[in-house]
Amino acid sequence: MEPWHGLIHHYRGFLPVSDKTPVVTLGEGNTPLIRASRLNRELHPGVDLYFKYEGSNPSGSFKDRGMTCAISKAVEEGARAVICASTGNTSASAAAYAAKAGISTVVLIPEGQIALGKLAQAMIHGALVLQIRGNFDRALNIVKDIVARHPIALVNSINPFRIEGQKTAAFEICDQLGIAPLYHALPVGNAGNITAYWKGYREYNEAGRISTLPKMLGFQAAGAAPLVTGRPVESPETIASAIRIGNPASWKGALAARDESGGVIESVTDEEIIEAYTYLASKEGIFCEPASAASVAGVIKLSRRNFFSKGDGIVCTLTGGGLKDPDIAIRMSKDPVRVEADVSAVEELLRGCCI
Ligand SMILES: *Cc1c(COP(=O)(O)O)cnc(C)c1O
Repeated sequence: MEPWHGLIHHYRGFLPVSDKTPVVTLGEGNTPLIRASRLNRELHPGVDLYFKYEGSNPSGSFKDRGMTCAISKAVEEGARAVICASTGNTSASAAAYAAKAGISTVVLIPEGQIALGKLAQAMIHGALVLQIRGNFDRALNIVKDIVARHPIALVNSINPFRIEGQKTAAFEICDQLGIAPLYHALPVGNAGNITAYWKGYREYNEAGRISTLPKMLGFQAAGAAPLVTGRPVESPETIASAIRIGNPASWKGALAARDESGGVIESVTDEEIIEAYTYLASKEGIFCEPASAASVAGVIKLSRRNFFSKGDGIVCTLTGGGLKDPDIAIRMSKDPVRVEADVSAVEELLRGCCI
């Protein structure tokens, strides 16, 4: 098999790059599509369920797909610095790719609201990290004003190259399955990713690589569900910090994905998100971050309403890896058991459970 050189190399014909584009890659893409081993049977009435595990990207989230394109194009256009607003993963990814490219990164994050792993990444990659006293939506507005005045490249998903890179996840799924799934579920925050997937599926269909299109299922957190309620949320709240966004930049793209595909955008509560999150870790062996589990929470919720038919093919994108947010993992788990450094003391504890 051909070695993997990153998604720009692999899907070059579908991307806005030329021979002059200096490709900045960390080997992103080519992430596993994992077949469910229990949830597929537990979901009514029995479905064919897969997880697209984007935590396997170099910085641990799907943002790397967009960032390889956005940073490559920024370097091609002569940028010396990039800037973004972030709930965490965009800043981690931008900082990593900018470090690789040898340019500077500025990230604006909501103070005290981003997961520990993501903050650590932005810091160690050498970004200038600015914590604002305000939420993501406010940070994005500030960043837009800054790039209007200064020659700094914006690498949020309103940058069209981000969407271009992210659409390759849809290509990979079709390549891995051999067909398009019937349903594609994903968490929705700023709504760039659902927009990108839908673009990817349509382009693969137009290119004759697939003959059907999936119905897109988008899930927002109940406390941050502007696309469900139809109006921006002033103070979005959810445990899933990556989708704590009240006024999605790709609002129109998300609704187009829903309506053109015949899908739905619904909300899931924090309790449902955490239920899916712990289920994935304890029953499927997959550790994702809470926001990622919103896709699975949504599919569980729809299945309880008899939404699916037997054997329906469903792919859930798991957008980021679990180590991004160690605090929540620890909070949701049993504490480690203290024991003397002694064989019989350990045996005593194992009795009745595994010996
Ligand atoms: C960015 C992000 C999302 C939301 O994606 P949007 O494109 O903003 O809708 C979901 N999950 C994780 C882990 C993310 O980093």
